[in-house]
Amino acid sequence: MIYADNAATTRLDEDAYKAMQPYLLNEYANASQPYSFSRAAKSALRTARKTIAECIGAEPEEIYFTSGGTESDNWSIKGFLEYGRRKAIITSQIEHHAVLNACADVERLGYPVIYLPVTCDGFVLPCTLKEQITENTDLVSIMLANNEIGTIEPVSELAAVAHSYGAYFHTDAVQAVGHIHINVCALGIDMLSASAHKFNGPKGIGFLYIKKDTAIHAYMCGGSQENGLRAGTENVAGIVGMAVALEKSVNSIEESTKRMLSLEDAFISELLAAKVDFVRNGGEKRLPGNINISIRGEDGERILHRLDLRGICISTGSACDSVNTQLSHVIRAIGVPDEYAKGTVRISFGKHNTIAEAKTIASEIIKLL
Ligand code: PLP
Repeated sequence: MIYADNAATTRLDEDAYKAMQPYLLNEYANASQPYSFSRAAKSALRTARKTIAECIGAEPEEIYFTSGGTESDNWSIKGFLEYGRRKAIITSQIEHHAVLNACADVERLGYPVIYLPVTCDGFVLPCTLKEQITENTDLVSIMLANNEIGTIEPVSELAAVAHSYGAYFHTDAVQAVGHIHINVCALGIDMLSASAHKFNGPKGIGFLYIKKDTAIHAYMCGGSQENGLRAGTENVAGIVGMAVALEKSVNSIEESTKRMLSLEDAFISELLAAKVDFVRNGGEKRLPGNINISIRGEDGERILHRLDLRGICISTGSACDSVNTQLSHVIRAIGVPDEYAKGTVRISFGKHNTIAEAKTIASEIIKLL
């Protein structure tokens, strides 16, 4: 099998897996209990929180463990607006459904939401935000990198616009964390969502960075875990695995970026040599390893299923929404011409892919075309 759908999920890193094992088998104590058996679990949580904070330039007490990207996005949008300070939110048309559907929920509760358009490369322009933001805007939520086309948004400029109107700035960084360097202070971010399974960590665990003194409401009510803001017994093994995977990913970003670019080159040059009529989607500034192409007169679904028969996993549109076969909202928002749009596929490389695999995927696509 060739797995090239790493934007959907990644294989668990072996060091992360090994680090998790003791907390599943022997050190299984509830980290919130007062007896000495809980000490190892408590200390593991403390270390993981510190490691994760360092990886994004935050303080440990600003990291809140969640069940993943979807929960972090929902929390930052719903938990925040419950304070109802000024009750208006601005996001973009190309956000993940975790943000879009959370926004749809708050709209149903009566809060106005504005969905900003993007350029043909998928950029949310700060001047577009300036046109729509008002003193009534409570929150601006724009993703750090898009999951379909990989475009990296100008978040520091967008956050500056949000702050100049007194609004908070949240970013869905699920695709970016562990893949590009992030410093929440330098970027001016108030809240940031992340998910471990996107950087070779385990599934079902993630975090939300919440800048100190941000007045956010608790998301899960119950016990006093996570400073009373996100109740529930901690997933110690998951958290430990996430911290190991993140530290490893962040320490190898330069080397991994180089590798991803060579995989992209290997794939794209095969298509060019075979004179395939395609457009590459996403801006020049995009996530390394993300290739989103639209092939003229083709059908992305057909390509996906034919490649599947050959043991190759890729994606069309958004992998998180594979039941929905309509043209993806991102491809629509960036205005890919009709004759290309239906033939959209996403290949997302990860650290286990090789140049030979990149070439095989390209040659199998060429063969079936
Ligand atoms: N946000 C983005 C940009 C994503 O790509 C995803 C998953 O693909 C999510 C949020 C949801 O993350 P999770 O799968 O951890 O719930």
